[in-house]
Amino acid sequence: MTLSHTEQTRRKRFRVRGIVQGVGFRPFVFRLAADEGLSGWVLNDSLGVLTEVEGSSGSIESFERRLRDDAPPLARVQGVEGEDILPTGETGFVIRASDRGDSRTTLISPDVATCADCLREIFDPNDRRYRYPFTNCTNCGPRFTIIQDIPYDRPKTTMAPFRMCGKCQHEYDDPRDRRFHAQPNACAQCGPRLRLVDSGGRTLHTDDPIHRAAHFLHEGKIVAVKGLGGFHLACDATSDDAVKRLRLRKGREEKPFAVMAPSIARIEEFAQVRPEDRSLLESPERPIVLLLKKDPSPVASAVAPHSRYFGVMLPYTPLHHLLLAEGFEALVMTSGNLSDEPITSDNDESTTRLKDVADYFLLHDREIYMRSDDSVVRADARGLKQMRRSRGYVPVPVPLEEGPVILAVGPELRNTIALSRGPFVFLSQHVGDLKNAETHEFFLKTVEHMKKILDVEPEAVAHDMHPDYLSTRFALSLGSLRHVPVQHHHAHIASCMLEHGLEGKVIGVALDGTGFGLDGKTWGGEFLVADRVEFRRAGQFEYLPLPGGDRAVSEPWRTAFAALLASHPDDWRTLDIEFLRRHDGRDLETLARMVERRLNCPLSSGAGRVFDAVSALLGVSERATYEGQPAIELEAITAGNVEDAYPYEAAARDGRWVVHFAGTYRGIVDDLRAGRDASTISARFHNSIVEVVVDLVTRIWRETGLGRVCLSGGVFQNRYLCDRVAPRLEALGLEVYEQSAVPANDGGIALGQAAVARARME
Ligand code: ZN
Ligand code: ZN
Ligand code: FE
Repeated sequence: MTLSHTEQTRRKRFRVRGIVQGVGFRPFVFRLAADEGLSGWVLNDSLGVLTEVEGSSGSIESFERRLRDDAPPLARVQGVEGEDILPTGETGFVIRASDRGDSRTTLISPDVATCADCLREIFDPNDRRYRYPFTNCTNCGPRFTIIQDIPYDRPKTTMAPFRMCGKCQHEYDDPRDRRFHAQPNACAQCGPRLRLVDSGGRTLHTDDPIHRAAHFLHEGKIVAVKGLGGFHLACDATSDDAVKRLRLRKGREEKPFAVMAPSIARIEEFAQVRPEDRSLLESPERPIVLLLKKDPSPVASAVAPHSRYFGVMLPYTPLHHLLLAEGFEALVMTSGNLSDEPITSDNDESTTRLKDVADYFLLHDREIYMRSDDSVVRADARGLKQMRRSRGYVPVPVPLEEGPVILAVGPELRNTIALSRGPFVFLSQHVGDLKNAETHEFFLKTVEHMKKILDVEPEAVAHDMHPDYLSTRFALSLGSLRHVPVQHHHAHIASCMLEHGLEGKVIGVALDGTGFGLDGKTWGGEFLVADRVEFRRAGQFEYLPLPGGDRAVSEPWRTAFAALLASHPDDWRTLDIEFLRRHDGRDLETLARMVERRLNCPLSSGAGRVFDAVSALLGVSERATYEGQPAIELEAITAGNVEDAYPYEAAARDGRWVVHFAGTYRGIVDDLRAGRDASTISARFHNSIVEVVVDLVTRIWRETGLGRVCLSGGVFQNRYLCDRVAPRLEALGLEVYEQSAVPANDGGIALGQAAVARARME
């Protein structure tokens, strides 16, 4: 028996949740319905996308499957719920006007790299967007950085001053067009324009500013290029002279510069690109990916001195594509700022602040509303590791259980903030070092902006326990809110727990440089038994006096000397090692007296300080011109084929394990005296840290029976350690969780603060 046509007709309503607005979802549904011969409608509302379709069972099933599987590239579908309803006999399919009522649950898309279709157009001489540097569509282009307010509509973006021409408007209105409701839609007739300006502020008259800028770059000049989330300072990466000049002018001594190369093939000439690197490089987020250098390399060594890696990205705007196509192997594309200042994003600001750095400015007249630095990631055997989560990833949220709105103000260095809304926490773009006045202002603007675009007012504010962090002071100034202080290393572990959706108790290993401890001392080599509410310090690295306090952080030889005093209290003067010859005897005697009398010698259990000490003892890095430099350069020289380690001691004290490194330092000194090479010593030292972590976790595991381990803190950006610690722990039968989508460094702290505050408020 066959069913009649009318009996076969069904109608179904689908609710689609996630990032489904401003990403071409409705036209996608429109085309899908047309494809499947279904009638009905689709609209955006406060919960996402709502659609009803009517037709045959088979078509509806296929529609439902494709709704999940074939969603547009920028959409992040978090759920599709279907419900059978009565057929209405409707014919045709329409996109209904949006319900603009409540915007509290819509998610904003991050900025997205130029898509393949737009790329084809800008290199097609017959296309009307040929060489147009602001080409974009529903699948690509600026989002987060141009949004001033919600709902996401052109008048509330920095595209508002540009009135679409007839052709662009037609694309915008046509549901069959790739540019249907693409808010930043533009062309050369109606959209933003480029302008090339010299360092004196004079406009250079040219029909092709990109070509002209490229000409200057080929000459070795430095050009400030206005991009998506801010300015870059660009120069020819193959020119040692140009790169050194940029370092000098920018006041950046040794911290590696990122480079942009036109294609994977070009990158392969100077760096190793594994399949996992390639997929990160080509992802729509287009982050800077850390790649192992090739040697020899056409890229100047001044780009990333003393590092094993180049930070590399592919072009992500049409402007970048057009510029890189002008015959460059690679361009340095470093944040357009002076050291420690936030990235510049405004034309006047950049031409003023960067006038002594850049020779020329490639400007455009589309305002960057929210600055956002390039993100930095790397791939290792265990997946993605986020180092700086910013452009391309922000504001994609992390899921959290429903609860009150919490503002988490983050740490002081590498600051990001977080704001919760409904079942999500939104981690902001990279803000930076709050001690810099401009960065502090940027921090305040970011807090206000996140509140505005998420349309929430926080009920509580979570902050670090450090009383002097500028973020803490800001939090305390918000008098009417409930305050939730969160210990720094607890926040690191909670960040890891939240990222992996872990509840209950875990063993947390938080290794980093600095964090305010419950005892008022500086912590950073911490083994916690923690849940999201509270923690117990189950183990720690021994306290080491830091002669000169903060000065010891920028001059790690001071910490090295304190380590030497700990390992050789009586005979350090007679040791036959280079380190003692490199330093003035009187300076060392002064330091010895300071340590002896505990004068200006704050105590720190920071794991980062142990790396500092070893790096300086080996003569790898005696000065830190940027955060983490001694440890990064120590990792860079580490031999890969050394198995043994130095001794250490773990002793129980006050109910916790304390790790003493005197034996480690003695082993290092013995190896130095025996003339052992630094790369072997570094490997043995790194192996010792691996042993310490495995040993302490095992002890705590035996005591508590807890089988889950969370690893966090900036030290876990060290690839040598990451490659070894987690596999060793897993081999013992433990479940190991590392930070991946959220940085293990302080860039992930705000997320942990939010997680702890939520848990405490329940
Ligand atoms: Zn596109
Ligand atoms: Zn136009
Ligand atoms: Fe930290």
